[in-house]
This record gives sequence, structure tokens and C-alpha cells, in this order.
Amino acid sequence: MLWSCWFMVTFIADGMLGRIAKFLRLAGYDTLFAGENLKDKEVIKVAFKDERILLTKDKKLYLEAIKNGVDAFLVSEKGFFSSIAEIAVNYGLNLNFKPDTSRCPKCNHPVRKTEPWEVKGRVPEKTFLKQKVYWVCDNCGQIYWLGSHWINIKKEEKEIQKRIERLKSQRRINH
Ligand SMILES: [Zn+2]
Repeated sequence: MLWSCWFMVTFIADGMLGRIAKFLRLAGYDTLFAGENLKDKEVIKVAFKDERILLTKDKKLYLEAIKNGVDAFLVSEKGFFSSIAEIAVNYGLNLNFKPDTSRCPKCNHPVRKTEPWEVKGRVPEKTFLKQKVYWVCDNCGQIYWLGSHWINIKKEEKEIQKRIERLKSQRRINH
């Protein structure tokens, strides 16, 4: 993977990596989620057709993907934070959450910044009185704002950064 092309990296995450797929979308990375019901063969087909990197913890699926000419990454770290950090280190991803460049965590469509008039009546009254900036997904209609969820995302982002630094220093020791 060329570092100069980092912004073009796109992913497809297998059915076990839903939380990772959502976070990658929040960080602005085009990431499909294969879902629990999609068969391995279909996942590989989509990855190949769209030239997406397949993210998986399933060694069988990983090997099958490689055999079929798909760029795949076998996540070996355990737990959400270490796993996503491992992916970030491997592909040089910037996982700082910036809502203006985010994709909808629900459906992967880019979100669009908007003003309160557009969401009037579509968000709780209390929220509407407090929040002056919103982001909408034009695909699924979901509306986002910087509420308590935002604080959680920033906390997660910090934890991921910690693991990224840890992984990087481990790799420096090992090489
Ligand atoms: Zn959406």
C-alpha cells in the first residue's frame, strides 16, 4: 500500500467486525459491512469487484480471499481497541474523528453538515434548543449532532491512539 494513496483506501469488514466498520466510517473511511448473513463467497466477490481491502479475523476467509486475488488483512489483535489500532498501524490510517468528513455509521454514505432549520421537528425539542450544528445522511435520513455520543467517540478515539502508539513501539522493538 502506497502511503500517498491512503485517502483512497476502502474496506469491507466481515460480519464479526461491525463495531470496527462503524468507527472506520466515523473516521471517514469508506467501509462496507458484510453483515452476518453474507456468505464468504459473496464477501470475496464484493471485495474483488470494488477493489476493497477485506478485514477479517477468520483465517479461512482470509486465505480464500488471498487465493482469489483480494487484498485482505487478517486481524490478529483481540478486542475492539487493539484490533482497530492494528488496522490503523498497518494502513497508516488517521482515526481522528472529524464529523465534517465522516460517513454515516449506519449506512456508509458521507454525511452532510446542515443548519437547524433542516432538522426542525426531526430531533427532540431539547436537542433542537441546544444544538446549532447538525449532520444528515442523505441516504438513510439519520441526523447527527455533537451530543453525549460525541464525548464517547472522543474517548474511544483516545484509547485507540494509545493502542496505536503501543503497537508502533512494539514493532520498533521487534524489528
Ligand atoms: Zn446513513
